Amino acid sequence: MLTLYIPLFFFMHMQCSLCDKKAVISTPALCKVHLIEYVHTTTKETIEKYDLCSKEQTICVAASGGKDSVALLVVLKEIGYDVHALAVDEGIEGYRAYSLRDLGRVTIGRSIPLHIVSFKKEFGKPLDAMIANRHPCSVCGVFRRYLLNKYAKEYEVIATGHNLDDEAQAVLMNLMKGSKDLLERTHVKTPKADGFVPRIKPFMFLPEKVIFAYAIMRGFDLHYAECPHVYQSLRAQVRDVLNRYEYEYPGMKLSLVQAGLHVSTKKTTTHFVSCMTCGEPSMQVICRACTLRKEIGDA
Ligand code: SF4
Repeated sequence: MLTLYIPLFFFMHMQCSLCDKKAVISTPALCKVHLIEYVHTTTKETIEKYDLCSKEQTICVAASGGKDSVALLVVLKEIGYDVHALAVDEGIEGYRAYSLRDLGRVTIGRSIPLHIVSFKKEFGKPLDAMIANRHPCSVCGVFRRYLLNKYAKEYEVIATGHNLDDEAQAVLMNLMKGSKDLLERTHVKTPKADGFVPRIKPFMFLPEKVIFAYAIMRGFDLHYAECPHVYQSLRAQVRDVLNRYEYEYPGMKLSLVQAGLHVSTKKTTTHFVSCMTCGEPSMQVICRACTLRKEIGDA
């Protein structure tokens, strides 16, 4: 990722579209001050337009220590929201320890309460010990969603750092998999459902490169490396394809996200039951996390 965006910052002689300062990013062409203002304003507008949360609530931010969740914590705090951070330590060698260290620094420096839960403590082993013949991301995703919901019950919403690129990738991946139900779950805010803490995505209309530029301009001291498992994922391939298409057809990522939102607004309420094993909400009698836990335990 770093290599992808370095040219945007350091080899550009473009002027800010709002003042006579040098732009630090090309699309939109903005200087440092206007970039920061743009990120804060777009976040506020998304929260207000979709009624995502209120300043009377404490917002639980699903934080990994990566640029998106750190930027989200900082932006929400600076625009006046009370935030707590909830992190999941999956147990990924040479990766997660660094991002959790960075997250600890950010939260301590800004007096943001941080709670860390781990796969090892909850499921008996780290992700790296669970994935023998499995795809790391499919195990990671199921257990991470499960833990976030389980440990965020005292909050009214969980905010995630998903950006425009993440959402465009999700829409295309779900289309490629013929996954109708998942496509219908493209939401800025997931609907209320028994046992599920609604999830909000205040960065849904901000491109990844804008968040990346914001993190650099704010001087966040982060370990910008990606998870070592990411290259095994379909998402990484979809991301590369979409970046190429966006370059050739600007606005295509936003169009994909808008298409996903259009489909999701037509969806009627999904019905959940309580998992017979753990009691967490589920679409089946036994939830996906308990099924996977049994498979991994039996393996
Ligand atoms: Fe988990 Fe895959 Fe993301 Fe790594 S890339 S953190 S394994 S979902």
